[in-house]
Amino acid sequence: MASMKNIKLSEDKRIASIEPGNTWFDAYHALESDNLAVIGGRVAAIGVGGLTLGGGISFYSSQYGWACDNVASFEVVTASGAIITASPTSHADLYWSLRGGGNNFGIVTRFNLETIPQSLMWGGSRILLEPQFPAAIDAFSNLGVNSPQDVAAAQILSFVYYQNTKSASADLQHAKPIANASIFSEYLAIPATSDTTSVRTLANLTLDFNNKNPNGLRESYWTATFKLDRDFTAFIKDVFFEEVLSIADADALIPAITLQVITIPMLRNFAKHGGNALGLSKEDGPFLLIDSSTMWADEADDERILRTHRRIIERSVEEAKKRGLFVEYIYMNYASQFQDVIPSYGAENHARLKAVAKKYDPQGVFQVLQPGYFKLDGVSSRYRE
Ligand SMILES: Cc1cc2nc3c(=O)[nH]c(=O)nc-3n(C[C@H](O)[C@H](O)[C@H](O)COP(=O)(O)OP(=O)(O)OC[C@H]3O[C@@H](n4cnc5c(N)ncnc54)[C@H](O)[C@@H]3O)c2cc1C
Repeated sequence: MASMKNIKLSEDKRIASIEPGNTWFDAYHALESDNLAVIGGRVAAIGVGGLTLGGGISFYSSQYGWACDNVASFEVVTASGAIITASPTSHADLYWSLRGGGNNFGIVTRFNLETIPQSLMWGGSRILLEPQFPAAIDAFSNLGVNSPQDVAAAQILSFVYYQNTKSASADLQHAKPIANASIFSEYLAIPATSDTTSVRTLANLTLDFNNKNPNGLRESYWTATFKLDRDFTAFIKDVFFEEVLSIADADALIPAITLQVITIPMLRNFAKHGGNALGLSKEDGPFLLIDSSTMWADEADDERILRTHRRIIERSVEEAKKRGLFVEYIYMNYASQFQDVIPSYGAENHARLKAVAKKYDPQGVFQVLQPGYFKLDGVSSRYRE
């Protein structure tokens, strides 16, 4: 897809047609001069394709939903080689499936994304030390609950263990160029050791995030979803710091646990255009979404690092079940190759996705001939223990 880099704005500027070779930086930068944006990734180098097909959490998701909720239509090449348009009015079953179903249905050659007005925004990272962790967890869970009061606000709270030091990064964003909006007051009252928040362009903010995600190391992401709960959030933080001690000697190790809230306003937007395939309902929200991620250098450390991730997820899930907070959903874009993503969307959505795949890909080309990523029946046998 790397050569498919075209980006074109419709005459009325309501739709940006973006080919899959683009990164989000390409897309945001191209739309900047028209004071427009699209709902997509938060890190410059991430691709339009995978992020959108798995869901796609953006800085603007409480206001507009996830990336997949803001796709007007997809141009898709199906297994037979046919080029078709999937939209709410054309191949609506395929359109629904592509909003969360990943690479199981065809190759998307054009994402026609709804544009939003956007000039400058506010955002950046506040770094906090261990004594501030309880206050950070309070601020995180309160902002998650209070999200409907200001849907322009967004947050990510990460705990990091780096060179024997524990720290947290509170990444705060506001879609308007307003510094220190009142919804963030609890966070802003916590003393930070450094603070990069400022008013800037969306593209610029994605470059800031890019610097925190260097290329060149090995990396694994693992995820789980729970009902949002303050004390359970603190429990997960503690499990993370306990478990990473067993791999602390690995070369160039950067482990983090990243916490986000799937807010009620986000979940309301999941209903756009007939709903997406993810199987989450606003009645059960808000949800705590965790991404346990590690970068490291040496292949010899792969196995013990992956086992550590597995333990972090298993211990969190076990405790959540005891507390009545477990949610089955596994977010594709943060899942490891060992996690059963599509079956986690619920039995009904799973069956519907399989039926749609059978219709557009009766011979299972994308299940059998396309290696990798999250297949309809979950983890491939080579990744089962
Ligand atoms: C540093 C970093 C930051 C991230 N930030 C965010 C974020 O802000 N929000 C969020 O939700 N997620 C985020 N993610 C997760 C991200 O969404 C996933 O890693 C996603 O898979 C990236 O998509 P890609 O196109 O770049 O990757 P790829 O590896 O190219 O694609 C992933 C899969 O999607 C399929 N695919 C890609 N394009 C197409 C296409 N055109 N047609 C059919 N199938 C296709 C491919 O089969 C591939 O296996 C981040 C990940 C990283 C590493």
